Amino acid sequence: MLIVPEREIAALMTRDAAFAAVESVFAAMASGDAYNFPVVREAIGHEDALYGFKGGFDRAGLTLGLKAGGYWPHNLEKRKEINHQSTVFLFDPDTGKARAMVGGNLLTALRTAAASSVSIRHLAREDAKVLGMIGAGHQATFQLRAALEQRPFEKVVAWNLHPEMLPNLEKVAQEAGVPFEAVELPGMAQADVIITITSAFEPSLMADHVSLGTHIACMGTDTKGKQEVEAALLTRATVFTDEVAQSVSIGEAQHAVADGTLKPEDIAQLGAVINGTHPGRQSAEEITLFDGTGVGLQDLAVAASVVDLAVEKGVAIEVDF
Ligand code: NAD
Repeated sequence: MLIVPEREIAALMTRDAAFAAVESVFAAMASGDAYNFPVVREAIGHEDALYGFKGGFDRAGLTLGLKAGGYWPHNLEKRKEINHQSTVFLFDPDTGKARAMVGGNLLTALRTAAASSVSIRHLAREDAKVLGMIGAGHQATFQLRAALEQRPFEKVVAWNLHPEMLPNLEKVAQEAGVPFEAVELPGMAQADVIITITSAFEPSLMADHVSLGTHIACMGTDTKGKQEVEAALLTRATVFTDEVAQSVSIGEAQHAVADGTLKPEDIAQLGAVINGTHPGRQSAEEITLFDGTGVGLQDLAVAASVVDLAVEKGVAIEVDF
């Protein structure tokens, strides 16, 4: 069995490799070659931790496994460890033998950034120039860095409920040589692409803040009750997702589906656009919205990719098991 420790991931994994892994597994999900197993998530009654598993099998990429981990809210303050902790386990689908154990913390951030980037690549207008960011926490910097590689953006505009966090994003934009501007929410009307990545339970981005032709990637809502954008925006937009079952239950679409203004059958898989079985954006005026809920297969795809890179570079630790 191979081990790729968390400390090795930053030097091994690239945004391009994460993009390729996520794009191909979204395609496999839409063609029926890959499926996610039911998610287990438990409050374990110890350290206030939320622990769970997200697993799946990709028959096309021959990736079988699970990500185990969750949220330990006291880690940082008590132990100087990050609160989100996860590990990916890969198994040989031919034999069932454990193949690899891979640090999952940085990979989670990279696969989430790759998902919104894949949606921008396939759904945003080619002439998109202004990128809007809503949210400026840990994950937002990853989303921004990856999104800036998808179109020749000329400006980043950003809003955050806690404006003191916006310099996190300004730094990333500066590193990429793209002008940055903090705006109020109506300022999002100038954006051609908007990424929302907050932990909000009530909407910030309203339908009136969004111009025709915009692509929106909603990435923060991954739990029942969370919400980043007004439900009316989903009825105005063509809605895509990673997995429809998650989109309608824990994703941004849960609210529009619950109030009856959006039907599950109106939500398309992004993988179908990648495969060419859905036309994707059909006009320059259309608003497209990607509801990125985060699936276990994304974790397995980037973990499999980093194992290959670790073997290539001779840094995978081999253990008898
Ligand atoms: P974080 O705690 O570092 O940042 C939270 C962000 O949300 C900050 O910008 C904060 O200002 C903002 N915020 C908090 N309350 C708000 C409110 N009421 N209204 C508007 N904004 C508010 O968290 P993070 O690591 O950046 O993660 C952000 C979200 O992304 C979380 O909800 C997390 O669960 C989700 N997430 C989703 C995926 C996925 O695959 N879709 C993957 C990782 C994280």
